[in-house]
Amino acid sequence: MVFVNCKKPERLLGLFICRIPESIPCAMQQTAEFYFHGSLNDFLRSKKRKVWFSYTFSGHQTVKDMIEAIAVPHAEIREVLVNGKAVSFSHRLQREDRVEVYPYDGREELLLQGIGDLKFVLDVLLGTLAKSLRMLGFDTLYENTFTDKAIAGIAEAEQRIVLTRDVNLLKNKIIPIGYWLRSQHTEEQLAEVIRRFRLVDHIKPFTRCMVCNGLIVAVPKDAVLEQLPPKTRLYFEEFYQCTNCLRVYWKGSHYERMQELIKRQLGENW
Ligand SMILES: [Zn+2]
Repeated sequence: MVFVNCKKPERLLGLFICRIPESIPCAMQQTAEFYFHGSLNDFLRSKKRKVWFSYTFSGHQTVKDMIEAIAVPHAEIREVLVNGKAVSFSHRLQREDRVEVYPYDGREELLLQGIGDLKFVLDVLLGTLAKSLRMLGFDTLYENTFTDKAIAGIAEAEQRIVLTRDVNLLKNKIIPIGYWLRSQHTEEQLAEVIRRFRLVDHIKPFTRCMVCNGLIVAVPKDAVLEQLPPKTRLYFEEFYQCTNCLRVYWKGSHYERMQELIKRQLGENW
């Protein structure tokens, strides 16, 4: 008879106390080998990058549970192979299985299958990135009061892509598509998102309000005259207005700075 308890080293059994030496492995624990490819290594500690390593697990965990316990969110994973065969996230591993985990690197078109419009929802730390994406015309939800639960709920209900600096947020299984921003700098983050979701062909600069995400349309000067500062009335003739919050836009110095940003991102053809 073997007395095993995975959590406690000793256990009262009738009148006897069974003490399990640490050298005897728990009967429920097993080991599988993992290898993460490409950009998934960004989530791993250096000694686990681009090498096979062992992971000890108990029988009830799915392969998704294990991959996320190791550190990699499911939202960044294209495919999982177990002993060379593709499996779903709900697959349960066996002892000594060999698991290879692949990112979308170079296969980004697969990432967007099943998603209609390129719509985003951002975590509370990404206000500047939200403005930049809106400036390029992308439907981008952002509030600095959003909870993680609210972001995941919006992503599921509206099929929005989650952008975040919080790896744990991307482990929420209801999030359909997400991306963990590697950089902490807005322009680099914008470049990452453009590359990851192949946004270049979908950019429509200055069609969306940077403040509220509403659509902006051209309006006659007379219609917004009362909202304009004196010098703007004098020097500008072309105006746009948000159909949601009614904020007025014109092509002043801010517009030129935005154009420079777009050129830096997309090249001189813009
Ligand atoms: Zn607006």
